[in-house]
Amino acid sequence: MIKNSSYLEFFPYPKFRLEQEDIIEKIEFLARIHKNILLVAPNGTGKTIMALSSLLPVARDKKLKIIYLCRTHAQSTRVIRELQKIHHSSPNNNKYTSGISLRGRKEMCLNTTLNSMRVSPTEAMSICKSLRSNNSCNHYRNIKKFLKGGNSLDFYNFEGPLDAEELITMSKDRRYCAYFLAKFLLKKAPIIVCNFQWIFNPDIRYRFLKFLETALEKCILVIDEAHNIVDLATEVNSDKLTPYFLTMSLNEIHTYRLPDKYWQFINFLKDHLAQKKKDLKNGELEINPKEFITRLYKKFKLKSITEFKRFLEKFRDDAKISIQAQEKDNTKKEPSQDYIKIVVKFWLNWSRKLESERYFFCYHVKTAARKKYISLEIVALDPRDITVPIYNKSFASLSLSGTINPSVFTHLTGLSYKQQGYEIIITKSPFKSRNILALVTEGVATDYNNRNPFMYNKIITKIIEVVSNTPANIGIFCASYKILNDLIMNGIKISIQNTGKKLFAEESNISASKNAKILENFKAFSQPPHKGAVLLGVCGGRNCEGEDYPGDFMNAVIIVGIPYHLQTPRVKAKIEYYNKVFNRQGWVFAYLYPAMQRANQASGRPIRKESDKGVIVFMDSRFRERRGWISEWVRKEIKLIPNKKNSISSTVKEFWRI
Ligand code: SF4
Repeated sequence: MIKNSSYLEFFPYPKFRLEQEDIIEKIEFLARIHKNILLVAPNGTGKTIMALSSLLPVARDKKLKIIYLCRTHAQSTRVIRELQKIHHSSPNNNKYTSGISLRGRKEMCLNTTLNSMRVSPTEAMSICKSLRSNNSCNHYRNIKKFLKGGNSLDFYNFEGPLDAEELITMSKDRRYCAYFLAKFLLKKAPIIVCNFQWIFNPDIRYRFLKFLETALEKCILVIDEAHNIVDLATEVNSDKLTPYFLTMSLNEIHTYRLPDKYWQFINFLKDHLAQKKKDLKNGELEINPKEFITRLYKKFKLKSITEFKRFLEKFRDDAKISIQAQEKDNTKKEPSQDYIKIVVKFWLNWSRKLESERYFFCYHVKTAARKKYISLEIVALDPRDITVPIYNKSFASLSLSGTINPSVFTHLTGLSYKQQGYEIIITKSPFKSRNILALVTEGVATDYNNRNPFMYNKIITKIIEVVSNTPANIGIFCASYKILNDLIMNGIKISIQNTGKKLFAEESNISASKNAKILENFKAFSQPPHKGAVLLGVCGGRNCEGEDYPGDFMNAVIIVGIPYHLQTPRVKAKIEYYNKVFNRQGWVFAYLYPAMQRANQASGRPIRKESDKGVIVFMDSRFRERRGWISEWVRKEIKLIPNKKNSISSTVKEFWRI
């Protein structure tokens, strides 16, 4: 069946792991015939190397680019490291195995002005543009000068595939702009490793592909940790207006001396949001979008939505002309931004989407660090609006995940809509049964009616049975911060300290660097002379997804409660919408599946490679009924633990004794 199969030229290791060769052959074959492929494989199966060695020969033969999408920098680095191995082991194919990992402009920027500002990616783009047009960025000037001097940059200047971190270090030494250095190399790179946004955000994708002088039809997409794209696709299709953007727009109106009518419009919105922030409690309040916009345009003596749109477009154009004029005579060379454009885009979006049942409109109020925030939001409900064009147009795609439910994923993303069809490949578990102990505990639950001191004490007692009998580190991931805090209020800290292990508790508002320090210390406590540590976090949180804990860094994981979302108006709107478009599957697709997906992600933390040994405890008896949703490699190992004193202790002790 397999014709043209050339993966052996690219596979860099002396032998294949379980099933690897069959899967690689299959992916190569399917990619050659333009299929969308979903590979469901647990960690430890070598998904990255399977993806690269199967797709590189297709890309070479068909003159395509591979765009490898990852969620985190660590995952991108892992792809580049595998690519470097391929590059060095396959010298005849060097031309086809060069690649580069790319980060966002703000993360690669070395300009101190931009780096000192706390701005969003859109704002960073506009500031960078302004700095360049003012000729005020030395790093950009240096790289331009280098290229103007007749120098050209390609991968022969370097020793094979390059990670973004390596590019940043190199650029610091030479005072180049790392972001533009990466961009100059991109066109020649057959493999680009980047964040999902580069393809899933339609505006970014348009500019990215235009820059590369290619089209999706000429790209093979690899989507790592593909379970993330359901939420990502709705996020990138949503929009938000905050008082900050309105304040900044007022400043721009003042600076550019724009007509008073614009000032009145923005100021009215700002006052309106300020009042709502006072009146509303934390949470969401649904808005009837048509009524809202009608009241808004009538307030400004406009007769219809069409007139309102014209008003917005004129506002945007007037601002653009003024900004350009200022940039020309800006003697201070200050970066200019364009907040008016962001505000206008929001209202044009609102006008376009107000009749569609695929969007939900609301005020959203939240409190963080004791400060109250408000936003007006347009929430997209259907991920397929974003995913289907990507899956349909790309030459072929390979979505990778260890925890996905293929049927739900296929429905939610429209993976199957491609004319050439799709294929699902599910691998066997590479883990030995004797290395995994998976338990569902009876007698405890964290549903609303059970959240009382008696239940929390029972949960803490059972947690301590696991902690006391585990050799090194343990992760406890709660269904929510509410449950995490309730455990703390009910004395989990002291109970853990009494076991001789150190407790590290995740905090929702700390910086990434402080959190990284917590993780570093937690991992260090897995080694003697320490007796191990406990990491207390939440399912779906930053320490639960995207962070690996191989070996003794995490011997056991405890999932406390089923991590259902709160039933907010937005979640209810999604359930209702899914009921309409997915044959009454709203509750399952929008509520149960995401919760079980988060629990599955948490359950995989201690088992990252074939040799790992670990305990996975689902500490909520409701998991028994939801067993069918647990990842297959864990499900087949599950034991029910009766609600009896010390039954967890004896089971865990016995597991580690063998
Ligand atoms: S050109 Fe590069 S270094 Fe300069 S502001 Fe833009 S991203 Fe930063």
